[in-house]
Amino acid sequence: MYLKKLEMQGFKSFADKTVLEFMPGITTVIGPNGSGKSNISDAIRWVLGEQSMKSLRGAKSEDVIFSGTQARKSLGFAEVSLIFDNQDNKLPVEFTEVTVTRKLYRSGESQYFINKTPCRLKDIIELFMDTGIGKDGYSIIGQGRIDEILSNKSEDRRNIFEEAAGIVKYKARKLEAEKKLERTKLNLLRINDILAEIEQNLEPLKLQAGKAKEFLDLREELKQIEVGLFIHNIETYKESLEKIISDEKILVDQNDDENKTVEKLNLLKQNLKIEIDNITAEIENIQNFGSQNIQEKEKLNSRNKCIKRKDRKQQTKQSKI
Ligand code: ATP
Repeated sequence: MYLKKLEMQGFKSFADKTVLEFMPGITTVIGPNGSGKSNISDAIRWVLGEQSMKSLRGAKSEDVIFSGTQARKSLGFAEVSLIFDNQDNKLPVEFTEVTVTRKLYRSGESQYFINKTPCRLKDIIELFMDTGIGKDGYSIIGQGRIDEILSNKSEDRRNIFEEAAGIVKYKARKLEAEKKLERTKLNLLRINDILAEIEQNLEPLKLQAGKAKEFLDLREELKQIEVGLFIHNIETYKESLEKIISDEKILVDQNDDENKTVEKLNLLKQNLKIEIDNITAEIENIQNFGSQNIQEKEKLNSRNKCIKRKDRKQQTKQSKI
């Protein structure tokens, strides 16, 4: 495994995208003072997760973003990628090339990526554990760092040797396990506290539970009673309904009988009317016949009178003769 390429954009003095390719062997970067040589190693340490701004020779995190010059405006973000050749699988991933990226925006938003997939800083630290490449690893020795290592406390030197010996991973795991144990102990304490509190509340809770049970029983009883009442009401309503239906049937039958009687009476009335009409017509006929007889009688009477007069005249004539 070796560092193949370094890409920087917007990081400190590297405003434009800058790509440094490293061939196997030694690569030397030379340049005048203040030209940005140390910024390259800062970029490498930054992408590996360096959080200390003192180590990066700045005051606040956004100091790593290109801050502009007289000729050029400042930028809004800094992005650095390290591309490793991993043909020997020293890095515990299945890729033959591994790209680690860190990006920081002026807003403070920060992102880490492994092979363009977003990840946590923890993932990057774990990836390089015991490879000597981490931000505190022995592969990055900055200006004055050798002096610092030699003059430092033996504890600090020990860290460098441990990283070289490849036991940091296990130390970190041990530390994490110890922290977990500590957290578990604290949790256990809390659980015991809660248990003690619960035990204290057990008696009143028992009373409350008894009351709750009683309430539930009574509620069940009430439910049964309500259901019984409901069924009783339904029965009563059913009986009333049946009576109403039978009464209605009787009334309907009665109504039918009445209607039939009315029909019969109407028929009788019609017949009687016809009979009355007939009788009236007969009376009229009789009356007509009567008046004709009277006229006939009058005619006969007048003829009779005429005849009598003629007879008298004849008799008188004869007597004269
Ligand atoms: P020396 O040889 O003296 O150690 P060097 O080549 O290592 O110098 P660096 O310290 O890497 O130089 O670079 C310093 C330069 O980087 C300075 O000119 C500084 O203005 C510039 N610089 C640092 N931070 C920023 C930033 N955020 N934006 C723009 N330029 C920056």
